[in-house]
Amino acid sequence: MAQRVAVQDGASKKTARVRVAVRLRPYMGKLDEKSEGPCVRGLDAQNLEIINWRNATETVKYNFDVFHGEQTTQQDVFLSSVKPILPHILNGQNASVFAYGPTGAGKTHTMMGSSDEPGVIPRAVRAIFNMVKAKNEAEGWDYSIGMSYLEIYNEKVLDLLSPGSQDLPIREDKDKNILIPGLTHTTITSFSDFDKQFVPASLNRTTASTKLNQRSSRSHAILLIKVVRTQRVLPHRQQTGKLYLIDLAGSEDNRRTGNQGIRLKESGAINLSLFTLSKVVDSLNSGTAVRVPYRDSKLTRLLQDSLGGSAHSVMITNIAPEYKYYFDTFSALNFASKSKLIVNKPFTCETVAVPALPVKRAREDHEAGGSGTEPQKKRQKDERKSEQEGSSPSSHFNSLSQPSVMDRLVALEKLMMKRQDKDGLSVLKDVAQEIQVLKDRQREFESKAMLFSRLAGEKSSAKQDAAFKNTTAPLQRRQATATKVNKQQAVVQPLQVSQLHPLQQLAVIKKQSVCVKKKERKLSDQVEPPDGKENVVENCWESQLDTSMLENSTQKILHVLNNGSLKELKGLQQIGDKKAKLILGWREIHGHFTRLEDLLKVEGMTEKRFSSFKKANILSSMGK
Ligand code: ADP
Ligand code: MG
Repeated sequence: MAQRVAVQDGASKKTARVRVAVRLRPYMGKLDEKSEGPCVRGLDAQNLEIINWRNATETVKYNFDVFHGEQTTQQDVFLSSVKPILPHILNGQNASVFAYGPTGAGKTHTMMGSSDEPGVIPRAVRAIFNMVKAKNEAEGWDYSIGMSYLEIYNEKVLDLLSPGSQDLPIREDKDKNILIPGLTHTTITSFSDFDKQFVPASLNRTTASTKLNQRSSRSHAILLIKVVRTQRVLPHRQQTGKLYLIDLAGSEDNRRTGNQGIRLKESGAINLSLFTLSKVVDSLNSGTAVRVPYRDSKLTRLLQDSLGGSAHSVMITNIAPEYKYYFDTFSALNFASKSKLIVNKPFTCETVAVPALPVKRAREDHEAGGSGTEPQKKRQKDERKSEQEGSSPSSHFNSLSQPSVMDRLVALEKLMMKRQDKDGLSVLKDVAQEIQVLKDRQREFESKAMLFSRLAGEKSSAKQDAAFKNTTAPLQRRQATATKVNKQQAVVQPLQVSQLHPLQQLAVIKKQSVCVKKKERKLSDQVEPPDGKENVVENCWESQLDTSMLENSTQKILHVLNNGSLKELKGLQQIGDKKAKLILGWREIHGHFTRLEDLLKVEGMTEKRFSSFKKANILSSMGK
């Protein structure tokens, strides 16, 4: 009788990382009713960027092991992300490939594909047969290939090769192999043999999906290909390699997308597996995990011997470029990568005419402007710092993208299940409290989503569809202003173009405001002396300015604060030698001013001095 052996290779003691690839599917005009264009684009073979919803003049750049752009073919994805792991299966090791991402982003296309463009699954199975065929007889092993096909739906394990079967248990044998007693396992002798079984079983799933309200997008489809090799001579050693190929449930938040058909239990259960998967991948990739929470869901329990450990795993995160997927894309990217940074492009977007500067000064400002000439490395270092300090917009978003609502729903579910053991009233009280917290979170999320769609709407009206085709990211369009600026002047303009605008087009735009007591005050009159008394205008001067100009000036000042030499700092209003040195010192220690208000952290900068500094510098930068 053949003797099973545990395979030990050099890596078996180590916990392997999950390789993360991201695939961006092509933009589909029909899914973009407002013709807003894409909100995400690839940069190179490992990086992409997405608009930052909190500040549309910024993008967030992510880094992955591999980035597959829109033009990537099925063959490219297979060759780079899947083929390299297949030889391990023939050597008795385990592997898993899973497609993650929101519904509609291309998971099924990536995994199954179509007859014209077969995906990872048919290509991998074909390649395994070819590899076995190519094995040298002299090595002395016989190979047998088998398949199982199952679905995890609602935390139930269902056999797709035997429709109608009941929930199956997941067990672990004494060698820590995970198995499912009762699951159909069929030997396959060729690719066409595989196809004959796989296609109808997949159709089974599709038929069920239409009946059961798009069940397929809410279940995990798991194909297992098992390769057993047996030595021909004594002691007939036997090695088993397992390859899991998984089309995961959609990662979208069903509550946010208004999927009313989902009951609490179902929704929590679907996400329990995905949520636990994210925790498992996180702890494997951070390398610091004391306990990888495999046992917390059916999916991760099933994958326990094929994800991490000595197994080879690849996650292909599928994303879609249209704005309607924005939040799901963002959260999928946050799941896929902890490596990101904010890329600031403050000067590439203006929607009103900007101050005409003397040519020399304009050039200086542009050079200092950071959008093109500043050494990239330093800028990235600064940006990374601001990320780490948690003051960047994405860190706020990131906290939102954490599935704490999911956590709470799952906990709520457990709480309700336990109700027999507890005093009824106290359970009800706990449940009511939980629901309140969830409602608050939901409201918070919705208001942010509204804010984003407003930003996206503004962007759409700016007709920047082509933006991704050139090198300028589509950035936020500022609100229209009170000045009569003709249409041509209201388009996005790089700063240097602004030299051409005469001074009278600019401005400090006075909105109708009860705060303004004096009409037509000169700019210089509005600048308070350092110790000047506040008057009515003091409190509302900002509201009199056009927001985009205010932002522009703020960015210029920030740029000097972050990059200026001692001399340049002293060139700021109300900054003398001592203050300039203190600012330099602060920069040395803390790195980066992310907002003007950070100046308050500099020694000696009182509220009053700061507000006076801010006003003097903003108005002066506009007046120049
Ligand atoms: P999911 O399984 O994530 O819900 P699908 O694979 O069904 O998404 O993809 C949604 C639609 O987009 C399908 O019509 C699919 O053919 C198409 N699609 C997805 N990815 C690509 C791609 N890389 N190239 C061309 N079409 C794609
Ligand atoms: Mg699908």
